[in-house]
Amino acid sequence: MGKLVIHPILQEIAGIFTRHGKQVFLVGGAVRDLLRGHKAQDWDLATDALPQEVIALFPRVIPTGIKHGTVTVHFKGRSVEVTTYRTESGYHDGRRPDQVTYTARIEEDLSRRDFTMNAIALPLPKGPLVDPFNGIADIRAHRIRCVGDPQARFAEDGLRPVRAVRFAAQMGFEVEQATLDAIPRALKTTEKVSPERIRDELDKILASPQPSRAFLLMEETRLLELLLPELASCRNIEQKGFHRFDVLDHSLLACDAAARDQAPGLVRAAALLHDIGKPVTRSLDLNGVWTFYQHEQVSATLSRDLLTRFHYPNAVIEGIVHLIKEHMFHYEANWSDGAVRRFIIRVGEENLNNLYQLRRADAYATTGQDLPKDFLLPLITRVDAVLAKSRALSLKDLPVSGKDLLIMGIKPGPIMGIILSALLEAVVEDPALNTKETLLTIAGKLKERYR
Ligand code: ATP
Ligand code: MG
Repeated sequence: MGKLVIHPILQEIAGIFTRHGKQVFLVGGAVRDLLRGHKAQDWDLATDALPQEVIALFPRVIPTGIKHGTVTVHFKGRSVEVTTYRTESGYHDGRRPDQVTYTARIEEDLSRRDFTMNAIALPLPKGPLVDPFNGIADIRAHRIRCVGDPQARFAEDGLRPVRAVRFAAQMGFEVEQATLDAIPRALKTTEKVSPERIRDELDKILASPQPSRAFLLMEETRLLELLLPELASCRNIEQKGFHRFDVLDHSLLACDAAARDQAPGLVRAAALLHDIGKPVTRSLDLNGVWTFYQHEQVSATLSRDLLTRFHYPNAVIEGIVHLIKEHMFHYEANWSDGAVRRFIIRVGEENLNNLYQLRRADAYATTGQDLPKDFLLPLITRVDAVLAKSRALSLKDLPVSGKDLLIMGIKPGPIMGIILSALLEAVVEDPALNTKETLLTIAGKLKERYR
């Protein structure tokens, strides 16, 4: 491995420690990623300085995790997490250590870390890497291995098994056998981990190059059954027709295929969960073919429950659930412009691209064959053409409002609501009607009818 390049700002921060006689190491994911030839994502420093001493060294320090000896230093537009060397003891709930004890030695601090690849320290400003658990060799071998006895380490913190499979998906590494074998034995501990911590790992899995890698490892170790039983039960649910895969493999393939540049992994999550209603809706039709009547509704409901369980924000849940609910659209060239506009309104203009991406992933994952270049193009062309003609798709796009109806003597209340929706329906069917004059005329007729 070549020379590791340290960012000048990081060296500047390190200089402040060393000038005050303190040791400082770059640790954790940053060192791991540098050794893999990747840019470090965020910086974690370990030091023998106590939190109070770090606070005294820098003008802007936030005590983000002071209970665990961690503070965040803000310096020249960067932020760095600085943790005093520590050991941890007494994991009674399998979640967080009960006690934190400071130590004078970096090696001891490294020994509390989860995996060998995460337990390497790089002294700043320079010096030889400290690698007591052969993390460098494991990184070279693309191996995820616990520091120490895997069973004991997983018993301390049930999140570690989930981190192991997450790293496997993120970096394409293998989980070393003893580490893998310890996962099923730690399920009772993983069960106690807070939903938020699991959710953060799920998000990182969904943002990784190949999420299926993590989910297949989860299946193998029964983490899937524990955390995402709805998905686990998709195994061996065979489908007929064009489908080549069972529902689980189809879902994983769709998830891998969906775009990963969506901020909260919306399309990826929808692709993963879009068919979880299939096991419960499956039945044989008269010709002996499997059907999954209204599975999109059931998938949506199950997904809402699942995402709620992990305390996803409501807006994220609703975004994913909406895509799942709408994933079964079937465009035909004989749709009227009105039908196209109703489709746009139902999906929401802002969600169209996500829905297209979901459909592409879904279709690809049906056969595993690349899609034709013009896949969905007829619908997309049609939608764009219809949008170019008229953007009157909601009440606020009409030149007539409740105020105008009030002037005509229509009182606020259910009837006014019915009339406004009728005006919108008329405009969606025929945008030429979208003038104030025409709509007021129609409103006048409707007023008579509801009198
Ligand atoms: P990423 O930032 O991509 O999630 P990372 O390895 O930096 O990866 P962090 O959660 O930022 O992970 O943690 C920084 C370091 O702290 C890790 O590299 C590891 O040494 C240690 N660490 C984090 N979580 C745990 C844990 N649950 N058990 C033991 N050590 C941990
Ligand atoms: Mg990190």
